[in-house]
Amino acid sequence: MTPPRFSPDRAAGLDRLARFVPQAGRAYAARRNHDLEGHPHVSGLSPWIRHRLVTEAEVIAATLGKHSADAAEKFIQEVFWRSYWKGWLELRPGVWHDYRREVGHGLDRIATESGLRADWQAACRGETGIDAFDHWARELVDTGWLHNHARMWFASIWIFTLRLPWALGADFFLRHLLDGDPASNTLGWRWVAGIQTRGKIYLAQADNIARYTDGRFRPQGLARSAQPLDSPPPPAPRALPAAAGWHADRPAGLLLTEEDLTTGWLADRGLRPRAVATLACAAGRSALEVAPGVHAFTRGALEDATARQEAPGTACADPAAVVAWARAEGLAQIVTPWAPTGPAATALETLEAALAPHAIALVRARLGWDSRAWPHATHGFFRFRAQIPQLLRAADLAAA
Ligand SMILES: Cc1cc2nc3c(=O)[nH]c(=O)nc-3n(C[C@H](O)[C@H](O)[C@H](O)COP(=O)(O)OP(=O)(O)OC[C@H]3O[C@@H](n4cnc5c(N)ncnc54)[C@H](O)[C@@H]3O)c2cc1C
Repeated sequence: MTPPRFSPDRAAGLDRLARFVPQAGRAYAARRNHDLEGHPHVSGLSPWIRHRLVTEAEVIAATLGKHSADAAEKFIQEVFWRSYWKGWLELRPGVWHDYRREVGHGLDRIATESGLRADWQAACRGETGIDAFDHWARELVDTGWLHNHARMWFASIWIFTLRLPWALGADFFLRHLLDGDPASNTLGWRWVAGIQTRGKIYLAQADNIARYTDGRFRPQGLARSAQPLDSPPPPAPRALPAAAGWHADRPAGLLLTEEDLTTGWLADRGLRPRAVATLACAAGRSALEVAPGVHAFTRGALEDATARQEAPGTACADPAAVVAWARAEGLAQIVTPWAPTGPAATALETLEAALAPHAIALVRARLGWDSRAWPHATHGFFRFRAQIPQLLRAADLAAA
């Protein structure tokens, strides 16, 4: 039997990494934009990296074990795009909440405007008559994944040719992508729409699609020109909130969300939890139903991380169940890896309020990779990129 393409465990992610590393050098830079069947020229690592079943540091360390920094520059930069987007949103969490409101407006319109509802349904079902777009809509629903170039083309056609609300497109992605991420997804869509890099849109062109899909598609009727969408400028970045430490002499539990599932760094810092709990937050990615495959991946990833712990694990359905677990275990504190802006962070806020009457502290610990990278996401990627050499030195990749 063929193994599933994206198996939600760390071993499968490490295996995929090992098999991809030989291609992460100049071959990646030359071919990464080609969206071909089987996606042979990109790593396909995003579902594992998104849940930190495999870390950015591990991916880059393995790459540098095989290639010079020069040869692997492009691949390393792409991995840092993720850190950049995560940091950018963490410094401006209001942009995520604005997006959620925008999805709400879109859903209200769909409830009342039958023409828009029909167009949105046709787009989500891959029934627009635009061959490439329809293929990607079905590929996304069937596999939970799309090539980066397909994501860019798809978003552009959604916004500028089909003239559908951009936030509903981002929501469609977030309901189906196994790597669905509040930062990379929201900001990727904003970038295509001309909201993120203000005044600069990404326009999908039939020739470009034909060239980079090896002639599989030559869509007709795409918009030939377009204006950026109107939107207020993003807020100024806030300072990155401080992460916390725990009391070594007080009983601690470990709470895992889908945001960060390589927990070795917490053990390295001396955490010895007496119990472990998990809280799945994927349902919060959308007001609509999130695809079963996304739930299955998240659940599997949490189970895999639990199985790697020494302490016994409990799956909690909601923050109230976490409170009950913490009380039953006699915990004074719950340590949890930092959940960046998104549904898990929102669930942790609810949890913190529910724990307060029981004098149980919620301690949000943050991986050094994030604490070092995120404060640099104040401006555009070019400015952030200049920090990559010193971020790599600070990460001490040999030890990753
Ligand atoms: C509209 C749109 C929506 C997107 N939504 C998501 C999302 O929800 N989650 C997500 O992880 N990525 C998202 N991306 C970024 C990118 O498309 C995927 O990370 C990439 O296609 C994953 O494939 P891969 O693992 O083969 O990447 P590779 O090319 O092999 O790159 C290796 C890793 O680098 C990171 N990376 C690469 N390119 C990007 C990028 N442009 N932005 C951020 N990180 C990147 C990913 O972690 C990826 O796994 C989106 C891009 C666009 C244009």
